[in-house]
Order: sequence, then structure tokens, then C-alpha cells
Amino acid sequence: MTPPEPPKSEISPRLRAWLAFYEDLGLTPTVRRAKPDTREGQPLALDEPAPVAALVEPVRPKQALPLPSMAAPPAATLSLFEEAPARAERETLDDIRTDLGECQRCKLAPHRKHIVFGVGDPKAQLVFVGEGPGAEEDLQGLPFVGRAGRLLTQWIESLGLKREQVYICNVIKCRPPQNRTPGRDEIESCSPFLLRQLDAIRPKLICALGSVALQMLMGKAASITRLRGQVFDFRGTKLVATFHPAYILRNPPADRDVRKDLQVIRQLLA
Ligand code: SF4
Repeated sequence: MTPPEPPKSEISPRLRAWLAFYEDLGLTPTVRRAKPDTREGQPLALDEPAPVAALVEPVRPKQALPLPSMAAPPAATLSLFEEAPARAERETLDDIRTDLGECQRCKLAPHRKHIVFGVGDPKAQLVFVGEGPGAEEDLQGLPFVGRAGRLLTQWIESLGLKREQVYICNVIKCRPPQNRTPGRDEIESCSPFLLRQLDAIRPKLICALGSVALQMLMGKAASITRLRGQVFDFRGTKLVATFHPAYILRNPPADRDVRKDLQVIRQLLA
């Protein structure tokens, strides 16, 4: 039976802020009491991250993911609060790709030529997460292969790494028409697969490229200009954001900032 909605006075300020965020987006999130934590034999308190995890079903390996309802926050909002699964429980990238199949879960499916799942070392220490495929990526089925991709390769090499030593993927796996910014519903549909990829790889560090990736991973509105170069915790993994390479191609002076962010990444990987 669905637990009753708790009184507002029992909801923590942090959770209230989340609710306000989703209400601003026109959503109507619901809150229910967390079920008792049988591992500890104690009910979960309502003042820490656990109640947020109670808002939606967690992403579970090897289980079909339900399409998110418009009335619930996206699964990606769990990102900062859920622990990644233990090694023994983890699925592989191949498992996830098989589960994704010829995906029709969102309205981008009819427009794509190829699903761009991701590429690189499945045990990479460093994962780059971009926004979504562009025209060239859609043609080849590979992420970051156009001009922006060549710039990303330069950044990777400046870290003393080869492109094959990192993993590169995107928040969404199909190209939006005219390269528009992906919609919230599209991100909701696709991002659970990204979370599963990150859980499967369990890198030392995730680098979000641009604001769409940063906001999806943080589960809230976030300014890339303000937050780039800072270190966050993402389910036990360090998260650093920098500008998207495509932005740098349009705004070359901002490359200076990217160099600083790459220094942070280099230090964290050392
Ligand atoms: S963008 Fe993601 S959810 Fe949408 S059709 Fe492509 S793979 Fe499926």
C-alpha cells in the first residue's frame, strides 16, 4: 500500500527545495514516507537523502526501466543520493546496450540514423559525459567524432591519456532534430541508461561537458559558468564540469577556463 503523504513540516529544507524546483518546471512531485529500512531495523528519517530516494523507483540493473511519468521527478534526480551498486551486482555495458535495443522510448527515435551509446574503455578511470549526438555522430554511431570531438581528443591527450583510455558518452543517445537542446522528457527517458553506464564503469572521475550534462548529473538547475572546475560528489565518484567543446569552438577565449578545469582533473586523477 502506498504510504501516506507526510505533513509539510516533516519535509526537510533540502527536499522542499527539490520540490520547489520541480514545481517551477510545471511538475507535480509527490512525497511519501520512506518504507522502513529493514537492513537497520529502523524507519528512515525524513530529514536526510533517503526520503528523496523514496520519490521514485531506483535504477536497478537488468530490469526494464519504466518510462518516467510526468508527475514524478526523473530517475536522474536520484543521482546525488543513491549509492552505486557493489561490484558483484553490477551489469556490464554490453548488458545495458542489449537492454537499450532499438530504443523507441522517446520521440527522438524516428529522427536518428544510429543510436550513439558510448565508446572507450569499459574500466576507464575518467568518463566524459556530453549532451547528445550531432550530425556526424548520428551518421557514425560514435560520440564526439566531429570538430568538437577532435577538440575533446586534444583535451584528453593534454591529460597524458589516449582517447581509448577514457569512456565517452552523452546524456541522450539519439540526435535531436537540428541539434536542438534535448527536451526534459527526452532526458528523462534516456538518462537512466547513462546512470547504468556510469554504475557499470564506476570511474574515478566524471567530467560533465556543458550545462545539460552538469544539470542532469546534479539533478537540478546549475550554471556551468559558475560551477565549472569545482569538485562534486556523484554517488561516490568525483564530478567536475567544464564547457562543452562545441561551445569552445564558438567562443575560443573560454578555452583558458577549460585549461584550468583540465588541471583540476589532472590533479584528481594523479
Ligand atoms: S534518445 Fe534515448 S530514450 Fe530516446 S529513443 Fe534514443 S536511446 Fe531511446
